[in-house]
Amino acid sequence: PDEGKSWAPPPFEAPEVRFTKLFINGCFVDAVSGRTFETRDPRTGDVIASVAEGDREDVDLAVKAARDAFDHGEWPRMSGSERGRIMARFADLVERHADELAALESLDAGKHPAVTKAVDVGNAAGSLRYFAGAADKIHGETLRMRGQFQGYTLREPLGVAGLIIPWNFPTTMFGIKVAPALAAGCTMVVKPAEQTPLSALYLADLAKQAGIPDGVINVVPGFGPTAGAAIASHMDVDMVSFTGSTEVGRLIMEAAARSNLKPVFLELGGKSPLIIFDDADLDMAVELAISANFFNKGEACVAASRVYVQESIYDRREFKKLAERMRSWVVGDPLNDPRVDQGPQVDKVQYERVLSYIEHGKREGATLLTGGTPCGQKGYYIQSAVFTNVNEDMVIAKEEIFGPVMCLMKFRTVEEAIATRRVVRSVRAGLVWVNCYFAVCSDCPFGGRGLSGFGKDEGLHALDKYLAVKSVVTPLRGSPW
Ligand code: ADP
Repeated sequence: PDEGKSWAPPPFEAPEVRFTKLFINGCFVDAVSGRTFETRDPRTGDVIASVAEGDREDVDLAVKAARDAFDHGEWPRMSGSERGRIMARFADLVERHADELAALESLDAGKHPAVTKAVDVGNAAGSLRYFAGAADKIHGETLRMRGQFQGYTLREPLGVAGLIIPWNFPTTMFGIKVAPALAAGCTMVVKPAEQTPLSALYLADLAKQAGIPDGVINVVPGFGPTAGAAIASHMDVDMVSFTGSTEVGRLIMEAAARSNLKPVFLELGGKSPLIIFDDADLDMAVELAISANFFNKGEACVAASRVYVQESIYDRREFKKLAERMRSWVVGDPLNDPRVDQGPQVDKVQYERVLSYIEHGKREGATLLTGGTPCGQKGYYIQSAVFTNVNEDMVIAKEEIFGPVMCLMKFRTVEEAIATRRVVRSVRAGLVWVNCYFAVCSDCPFGGRGLSGFGKDEGLHALDKYLAVKSVVTPLRGSPW
């Protein structure tokens, strides 16, 4: 009976926003100041909800709760396998609520719900499960001391962790930082980004349902220079793991140095290269270049914002398909149309920032092959831009744009592309993808080098960030000691 009618998806139903307050010591509470801030729908700019705005006093309360849970609570003292069991239950709950969580996140961040469910929620649950399995495998070493001593090491939870996360993959970021911290036996204060505070609060409620004791996970939404800075400079926070811009990473390290010299781990911005050699499968290369740049609207620290194409294929017909292919790349409302490839930028600030980079690129003499214009009647939509004739000195080739802007550059020889011969070994990077892109997984260490930061999220290396090594030395029997 429906023949002839075109199929339309059911309209997106905005999820109810149930959690808008700070989560401290297992309860949702107002900010001490009583202040709130608005989080907006990037498709329209309309307010989704008013959220309690945490500041220094709220961070103090959250740290106190975390400190208490660490010093006197059961979490760091229970067996690793018991912690793992509770974390696995948390993972189950995240998966069970995947649709609602993905809808909430997509609304807050302008993401595609199906992608958010698969990627953001999938990664968070994956991380919780992976580190649940690691919680009872935290061992020290025995030491062969010289002389009359014997020794061993203990790997102990560091204490109260400060976890400051960005807005581009909020649920994933929550998962990949909270999971290893939980496995290690730490307690924590999480500060989600002011653009996207809703998913962290929702996850805090699931953590409580899973049986994570009060005070172990505290969530304080608020702004960077206030709530974020209060965490970084707090005398009772024992470590900070941060994902965000290089500029703020420096501030956090300074604050840590000036306060209690807490260790800091930084996962910062990037300007990742994608190198396409002339022997590549060009259809695949075109698809990879597009998804590596425009996935998540280019809001990814690993976006391949510099695409180096070997000269011999740069002008080939197959490669020109890139421009053709972009004609069928759909920018629009990802919540109401599943055919949409790319949603709106996260907020007005980012939208204007990306457009100004595009203008800058044009002024610098790069050629805009396609896109680069605002689109839609309202909201923060940008037609993805592909620039050609980009050279290394241009600002668009040097600075992280964090939006849908691809820069194509030519190179002749491998040496010219990377100034050396063995590509994978000689690239100074935290992660190299060969014939693929965005391949991430809970057991694959993730994090950059140089100005992109240090310390890994994911993989067993991530656990080390949340553990302190204590060496224990005793005299051998019969020694004069
Ligand atoms: P982006 O440029 O991607 O928004 P930011 O580095 O500004 O990245 O933000 C990432 C996270 O860091 C957010 O949670 C933000 O609130 C927080 N932040 C921003 N400024 C500071 C600061 N001075 N101290 C601590 N955290 C901050």
